[in-house]
Amino acid sequence: MNDFLGLQNSPHFSVELTSDPIEENYTRQVKNASFSYVKPVTPSNPEILHVSEQFLNELNLTINDKKEFLKIVSGEQSFHDFKSYAMCYGGHQFGHWAGQLGDGRAINIAEIDINNTNWKFQLKGAGPTPYSRRADGFAVLRSSIREYLCSEAMHNLGIATTRALSIVKTGDLVTRDMLYNGNPKDEQGAIVCRVSPSFIRFGSFEIFAARQDVENLKKLTDYIIKHHFPTLGKPSKETYLAFFKEVCNRTKDMIIHWQRVGFVHGVMNTDNMSILGLTIDYGPYGWLEDYNPLWTPNTTDAQNKRYRFGNQPNMALWNLTHLANALYPLIEDVPALQTILEDFKHDYLTSYSVMMLKKLGLYNIIDNNEFLPTLEKLLHQSEVDMTIFFRTLSDKQTTNFEVFWESINNASYLSGHELVNHKTAWQDWYVTYLTYINIEKVDALEREQRMKAFNPKYVLRNYMVQLAIDDAEKGDYNLIDELYKLIQNPYDDQPDMEKWYTKRPDWAKHKVGCSMLSCSS
Ligand code: AMP
Ligand code: MG
Repeated sequence: MNDFLGLQNSPHFSVELTSDPIEENYTRQVKNASFSYVKPVTPSNPEILHVSEQFLNELNLTINDKKEFLKIVSGEQSFHDFKSYAMCYGGHQFGHWAGQLGDGRAINIAEIDINNTNWKFQLKGAGPTPYSRRADGFAVLRSSIREYLCSEAMHNLGIATTRALSIVKTGDLVTRDMLYNGNPKDEQGAIVCRVSPSFIRFGSFEIFAARQDVENLKKLTDYIIKHHFPTLGKPSKETYLAFFKEVCNRTKDMIIHWQRVGFVHGVMNTDNMSILGLTIDYGPYGWLEDYNPLWTPNTTDAQNKRYRFGNQPNMALWNLTHLANALYPLIEDVPALQTILEDFKHDYLTSYSVMMLKKLGLYNIIDNNEFLPTLEKLLHQSEVDMTIFFRTLSDKQTTNFEVFWESINNASYLSGHELVNHKTAWQDWYVTYLTYINIEKVDALEREQRMKAFNPKYVLRNYMVQLAIDDAEKGDYNLIDELYKLIQNPYDDQPDMEKWYTKRPDWAKHKVGCSMLSCSS
């Protein structure tokens, strides 16, 4: 085990890419640069609320001096004199080009080589930067708890994501109008220390393309390929195309995983799309409870539902198309880029159906094009809890329709007399399902194990995090720790955690923070 504080910086991003020559901290357009040097604000009374022991263990690290650690992750002190910085990027927000966005409230505080990876450490909510536009650069406790727990939950679900090392309460107040309805309130400020091999986004490329800064566009692309896709080869049009193809593949894999576990990101703007295919920027995200492809947790998007569960693959493609546009000046080959985008569509559909069949314990059959859509329609119409449905199917294998029907009853949010209307349709679907199971000839025990490793028992439902937030706002952090422990092993039966394996309680259906979330954080 190494002491985290004893590690040394080995900067890549901030020495290889172009810095903004201005080091004063005021809001501005930053041209011809990938980042601006800026220091975090020192919080008035910082307190550690939680540290991800699991992540430390994975990196083979310990923290010997907790007080010094707090100084680093609260922004009070630099990490061995590292020159901290905020990154420049642009983005399409809700379908429209928004110009320069950038790290308005994130500051990179270290770049460290650990286990053959150059990790970037970033404080989210540590004060304003040149990219803060009209906002304050801070983050509130509720959204920080949500980001902290969910990034670790996603990792343990086996989904590529940025990580969270720690969460600190700053002791300062931050004013937020949570639902943008003219009711501003003072809330407790917090800082999450996020960690990732890279925080570069699609929007990091878009900003240079929009400004016709081909020199920095090429520099950024070459940098990314050299450090993150080194096997693709030396800079050339072919390499850039291979790079774009790789980003498409990683994005596809990430979205397939989101659909597998019922994760809805909520704000898939191009500035929130990682070039490494990592889930990034946990804002108004949510987990599907009753299976509804039209659902989005983000009230800011309630009208159009652009980022609804069922639209996530389309939005990924839309975002990739804009990344293709941004890379075009380096490639200048529209048909080649289009072919890769077409492949994404096709590959996604194939992978999606393989994934859904796996959720059902079917590994060898080929979808007849009716079977999965019928299931999805039934789950939707019957308002069945997605997680509970697939987990029960994994756990309690039966060939008896009435037993199966009982489990649908248990997992549905409809009343018995509403649900019964769908019984015949379920029965028809179930007959096909049993036929497929028979064709498979997979041993039942083996199937159970494989299905349980694929269909999580515990996901971080919004109401669960909201309970942890309500307690934390009163100074009780026990539930953060309990949920943190729960999400370590989402696929295991955890007998003492059975209370978290249940449908969303009624009180949470329309509660702010549970089903209604906004971008205000
Ligand atoms: P998001 O969609 O939440 O990832 O944020 C979009 C943009 O707004 C990013 O450039 C953020 O850095 C910026 N932003 C969000 N909240 C704040 C804040 N409180 N202060 C400064 N910038 C912010
Ligand atoms: Mg963002």
